[in-house]
Amino acid sequence: MTDPLQLLHSVFGYTSFRGAQADIVQHVTGGGDALVLMPTGGGKSLCYQLPALLRPGCAIVVSPLIALMQDQVDALLQSGVKAAYLNSSQDFDALMDTERRLMTGQLDLLYVAPERLLTDRFLGLLDQLHEAGAVALFAIDEAHCVSQWGHDFRPEYMQLSALHERYPTIPRIALTATADAPTRREIIERLGLGEARLFVASFDRPNIRYTVVERDTPKKQLQAFLADHRGEAGIVYCLSRKKVDDTALWLREQGVNALPYHAGLDADTRRQHQQRFVREEGVVMVATIAFGMGIDKPDVRFVAHLDLPKSLEAYYQETGRAGRDGEPAEAWMTYGLNDVVVHRQRIDESAAGEEQKRIERQKLDAMLAFCEAASCRRSLLLHYFGETLPACGNCDTCASPPQMWDGTVASQKLLSAALRTGQRFGSGHLIDLLRGKLNPKISEYRHDLLPTFGVGKDMDEATWRSVIRQLLVTGIVQADAQRFGAITLAEASRPVLKGETTLMLRRPRKLTTGKPPRYSR
Ligand code: ADP
Repeated sequence: MTDPLQLLHSVFGYTSFRGAQADIVQHVTGGGDALVLMPTGGGKSLCYQLPALLRPGCAIVVSPLIALMQDQVDALLQSGVKAAYLNSSQDFDALMDTERRLMTGQLDLLYVAPERLLTDRFLGLLDQLHEAGAVALFAIDEAHCVSQWGHDFRPEYMQLSALHERYPTIPRIALTATADAPTRREIIERLGLGEARLFVASFDRPNIRYTVVERDTPKKQLQAFLADHRGEAGIVYCLSRKKVDDTALWLREQGVNALPYHAGLDADTRRQHQQRFVREEGVVMVATIAFGMGIDKPDVRFVAHLDLPKSLEAYYQETGRAGRDGEPAEAWMTYGLNDVVVHRQRIDESAAGEEQKRIERQKLDAMLAFCEAASCRRSLLLHYFGETLPACGNCDTCASPPQMWDGTVASQKLLSAALRTGQRFGSGHLIDLLRGKLNPKISEYRHDLLPTFGVGKDMDEATWRSVIRQLLVTGIVQADAQRFGAITLAEASRPVLKGETTLMLRRPRKLTTGKPPRYSR
């Protein structure tokens, strides 16, 4: 057998393996099945590309995205590897030519979209290849797509278990950067990987600095953040297509080389923008989550979230696109109370079953707890993925630990304001009420006559907002998405109202610029 290290050097130009790559390559080349959990940028591709070269025949790589296949194949061709792809973007002649090369032993790797792989025609070709002993292995990239609890479910992936049933002796390697336990279990179960060896790399990305700021003046905050990243490539994530368009336009007016990307743009524009992002220097891509998977750009210096992602998995994936070259990079996010309402509403109104809704709510709660964290964000994030880490010194809470204060009385005031107004009003109204601001709505409902009117004058609006957010995160109150975010009391509010518990809360930062705190390192 050719020496894997030698091949790594001669074909890919690298001098050594990273992390578990060597073990994985050896295991799969020897015919074993593997499930590889490795963060984005960890070097998953080599884990199947090298065995593909080391084993006889052609490796079949299942990949969910056309853009991803093209990039991978381009890179392989440049290294002199015989690679090709089959997908719906090709015309008939190109398809036929690729098939011909596959069947005449002229390919080492073939990337295929799952729906094409599972066609009778392609399975027929595979049967022939298999009989000739010319299938090297199956690689299932972005394997979390098989999981309904994951963030990127693709129904076609469910059928990939057929590969094992049809070709039980061909090794399979499934790879993903999504590591939470439920997704992992589902991958193993649905792809029939019970016997596969599990390789789990650390998910820590020490070069990424995490910062979360309360949304205050979002445009100004973004502007101030970008001022520290002039000329650098980055991604700005927004929840809606409209916000993507607006933000990209506004940034261009500010002289930032920004481009929009979302599923509402035609395929040509999307491709062009993606190419410019990858090839040109210093492009800022303003995008929905439609952008990012499989983009191989090592020098993305920052990922900014203008809206809260729906889960920590999604947040980790999205921020993980920064700093793949190992150089310092920043993950920066603004978030506010409204995000909670929007996400809750999305979950409530989705067509998903009750069980799935429950899981999505749990995921959202974990995301919120991350935002409101008073301790190291990195340890919190990695704890979610099952790792234990000491405080990192490279996130906002480590750099300047939030001050804590006794918020019991303030919480009681807030709870009683919600109670006395029938639990029908949102945070803005309750804050005005507590602060004694006589606005038309307060007058209309005669809330100025309530004993709670003005009892919270001593605290500014930002502090009240932060009290409500923390009560939400700890499940003491809920924001009723069906009623415009009306604050309602949960069971856990009882001991607080009765004065049986002390609530230590984190003070909001005085941050109007959105700049991360100064770092001493
Ligand atoms: P992933 O698929 O896990 O996100 P990739 O396979 O795209 O990661 O690898 C990320 C980057 O790391 C690529 O630029 C790749 O060329 C580089 N890389 C991977 N393995 C090694 C290695 N052993 N030595 C040096 N660079 C590597």
